Amino acid sequence: MSDELSQPQLRQTFWTGDYYNEGSGKDGLFDKLKEECGVFGVYRHPDAASLSYYGLHALQHRGEESAGMCVSDGGEFHYHRGMGLVKEVFDKDIMASLVGDIAIGHVRYSTSGDSKLTNAQPLVFKYRDGDLAVATNGNIVNALQIRRELEQSGSIFQTTSDTEVVAHLIARSPKDLVEATKDAFNQIVGGFAFLVMTNDKLIAASDPHGLRPLTMGRLNGAYIFASETCALETIGAELIRDIEPGELLVLDKDGLREERFDHGKHRKALCAMEYIYFARPDSDLNGSNLHMARKRMGNQMAMECFIDADVVTGVPDSSISAAIGYAEQTGIPYELGMIKNKYTGRTFIQPSQELREQGVKMKLSAVRRVVEGKRVVMIDDSIVRGTTSRRIVNMLRDAGATEVHVCITSPPFKNPCFYGIDTPDRKELIASSKTIEEIRQEINADSLHFLSFEGLIEAVGGHNSSDPKGGLCLACFDNEYPTQVNFNGEEKFGCSC
Ligand code: SF4
Repeated sequence: MSDELSQPQLRQTFWTGDYYNEGSGKDGLFDKLKEECGVFGVYRHPDAASLSYYGLHALQHRGEESAGMCVSDGGEFHYHRGMGLVKEVFDKDIMASLVGDIAIGHVRYSTSGDSKLTNAQPLVFKYRDGDLAVATNGNIVNALQIRRELEQSGSIFQTTSDTEVVAHLIARSPKDLVEATKDAFNQIVGGFAFLVMTNDKLIAASDPHGLRPLTMGRLNGAYIFASETCALETIGAELIRDIEPGELLVLDKDGLREERFDHGKHRKALCAMEYIYFARPDSDLNGSNLHMARKRMGNQMAMECFIDADVVTGVPDSSISAAIGYAEQTGIPYELGMIKNKYTGRTFIQPSQELREQGVKMKLSAVRRVVEGKRVVMIDDSIVRGTTSRRIVNMLRDAGATEVHVCITSPPFKNPCFYGIDTPDRKELIASSKTIEEIRQEINADSLHFLSFEGLIEAVGGHNSSDPKGGLCLACFDNEYPTQVNFNGEEKFGCSC
């Protein structure tokens, strides 16, 4: 067993190389949580590759390190994967080679050390019945255990990706593809949205708790699958519905079959951070638009905590909707107090503290004319280590804000994620060891407030459900994971799709 596999997948912190990626938002300067991955699938459309290109481009925020696509022409696969953004990975010639009417595609974010081309997806295999391609979003908590068992019985792995474990489980089963896939999904534990493709079939499935989003649409008779509805919108597809927890959809020459691989009674537990931060504001989750849900989080925040201030501002981009909601509810004007520079690109600098701070300013600036002499309410979606919040508060103070009150539209983030979100170890999460007052001091704010569980559940419409958690996974806040997370004494967290 290599060290890489025997260690929990820890994330990088500051400076792991001689550059930082200012353009991606996935660098150590901003201790935001990392998005996981995005999947996109097309069944029976003559422009499957082009649609996948645009779909993956719409899902780019879910993974910026690699992209890939596999297309079937009914007889053979054509595929391409590469490191970088969708627009960097695919060019005109590559797109022209991706011929066929069934496709699956993937954008990936991965933890440090795993960011290599062999792990880029879709993973493509030859097995006894032909070609097999697999793309996933999420994390399999018992992947290491299964992998060891498979290795002991002779399997050889080419990647460190969980997805290959599933491919092995499918390939080793004596059953037909659909039953083999069901068997494989019944052996894995975690949060996942899977797309599996053969030369003439497409299978889409969601884990038994529906932790990761997966949605289905239609375009001119073709079926489309995507991690978020914004990708359907981009290609002009009509939204049909979300894939249900434990559901497995099969598309082949007989059309669509709606089956299940899981028949247990599990509570639905869609990732709350998708609502709070990850998903694009123009996407819908569970029939609820994300911008509107975040506005309601801002409304709720205002009802729980009114602050006598002059302006409300949101940390761009994810907190702008909530800031508008807070302003709407309180009557305090919403202002663009901070601007994000999206065009900084990859910058090579030396890792001195002074330049590190300069790097932050390259990416985010306070608007002096807006905040100078003002009492500011700053809305943000979460606090991870606290370093980003402190920098932003200080940036507003440097620009002349007389008071900075921080309102976070989620409960304190105290626990790591095991279902595909790359989070730091628990001891690095500031809320796991400090009180709210201690965090306030650490981030240099005049006051600090977190949205309550009830407020969050109400904002996403979960209060109408019989489940007190509103159909959400809230484990990173309340430590109640919907699945077993410890196998053979090992906890495997992060994103390993
Ligand atoms: S632990 Fe947190 S980040 Fe992970 S799936 Fe649950 S809500 Fe989402």
